[in-house]
Amino acid sequence: MPPTPLRKIDCHVHLIGDGSSGSGCWLQLRSIAHRLMAQILVRTAGLPPSALREGLDAQLEQSLVERVRDSSLDAVVLLAQDQPYRSDGTPLPEKGAFFVPNNHLLDVCARHPDLFIPAVSIHPARRDAMDELERCLAAGVGILKLLPNCLNVDYSDPRYQPFWERMAASRMLLLSHTGGELSLPVINPKLADPRLLRYPLDCGVTVIAAHCAGRSGLWDADYTAILLEMFEKWPRLYGDNSALCSPLRCHTLPAILPEPVRHRIIHGSDFPIAVGGFGPWRMGLIDRKTWRQSRREANMLERDIFLKRAIGFDDSHLTRMAELLAEAASPTPQSNLSTVTS
Ligand SMILES: [Zn+2]
Repeated sequence: MPPTPLRKIDCHVHLIGDGSSGSGCWLQLRSIAHRLMAQILVRTAGLPPSALREGLDAQLEQSLVERVRDSSLDAVVLLAQDQPYRSDGTPLPEKGAFFVPNNHLLDVCARHPDLFIPAVSIHPARRDAMDELERCLAAGVGILKLLPNCLNVDYSDPRYQPFWERMAASRMLLLSHTGGELSLPVINPKLADPRLLRYPLDCGVTVIAAHCAGRSGLWDADYTAILLEMFEKWPRLYGDNSALCSPLRCHTLPAILPEPVRHRIIHGSDFPIAVGGFGPWRMGLIDRKTWRQSRREANMLERDIFLKRAIGFDDSHLTRMAELLAEAASPTPQSNLSTVTS
């Protein structure tokens, strides 16, 4: 029998909500800039601006279902978003921009199990962090998402070691934001540094560095070269190319296209962050005709795939997440466990 083809997966799609369905989600739009940003996100998701006032939970879920079905993807990894916490476990909800509880994520994914793969979010400083991790593992979840500079997660905190060890033992993947963040309020910019990922990596966790640690704003530090050096030391470290077709993040693209780095890159969009061909065209990665062609694709998930293919990412990028998930589910030990350093 021929082997089952690997699924094409977008590894980085955000769920957002306003709590209108009883989901527990919230959005805090304190400044004009954040309100503007929320309007752009909602428009990118294919929704009218009124969705921010009327039933965002249900409308976004429906829109996501339609967009994944209308795309050439088989599934997307859908992300929860925890609140920020102090390292002593005190929640800091006032510092968060949006919150998507794991229960809501799991409910949405359970309604569309063929389309959505859940990535829960658990701040390791939470007093119930280990219990919540066990609960999510028991529910069959294989991916955890964190945004360290905005949630205040310092991966080097030794108190988190049992958390990483439990993730490694259960082969749960860590999808971690790396590099600057322009769209959301940042609590501690130093936590954008991918070198901090060596703590979960040393515990044996397979890590995907979202955005490949590039710059988000003009003045951010650019950590991509450091991340690429880290690839040599940690074979279980990957990067995703999410949001890299946006005008500010496209500078990261030339660094991650050459061999052998490209084999460590996983396709991700960062939906509902808007993507377009302007940045890649300005960088000389696509021609003007391709840029124009990309604008005719209204489905942002598909537009991102179109642009990534035109830039030079082949279909192995679309199936790499499926490969990692299949490896995590296989009974044979992962190769990284033999290379764990102290
Ligand atoms: Zn994201």
